[in-house]
Amino acid sequence: MKQKKAEKLLSAQKSGGFLTCPVCNKEEMERRKDIMEQDGIEFEAYRCSNCGEEIMTMKQLKVLAGKYRKLRNAKDITFAKWGNSIAVRIPSDIADEFSISAGTHGTLTKDKDGIKIIPT
Ligand SMILES: [Zn+2]
Repeated sequence: MKQKKAEKLLSAQKSGGFLTCPVCNKEEMERRKDIMEQDGIEFEAYRCSNCGEEIMTMKQLKVLAGKYRKLRNAKDITFAKWGNSIAVRIPSDIADEFSISAGTHGTLTKDKDGIKIIPT
């Protein structure tokens, strides 16, 4: 029985049609964006408008897992004022890991998510 549901799901995904809900068997799965409230992470899943069941495809799951991986490696930092500029305090374990000390040069680049600093 479970196997059959998985096959149905797969064929629906391939054809781009509606997914059948694995709980109530209605074809009312809608793709929607949602947010993990406790850590503010956005994700995409299919939700049944009939019973509320939510499922994720492997692709959606991989995207979400990637976001959590990033978050796990993240450190909380505070910006400070330094003259007319803004300074960032880099935690000592990260500074050590990248051999950064006072006077070390680096490049700063911007991307859509923020700022990246590469010691040179
Ligand atoms: Zn349902």
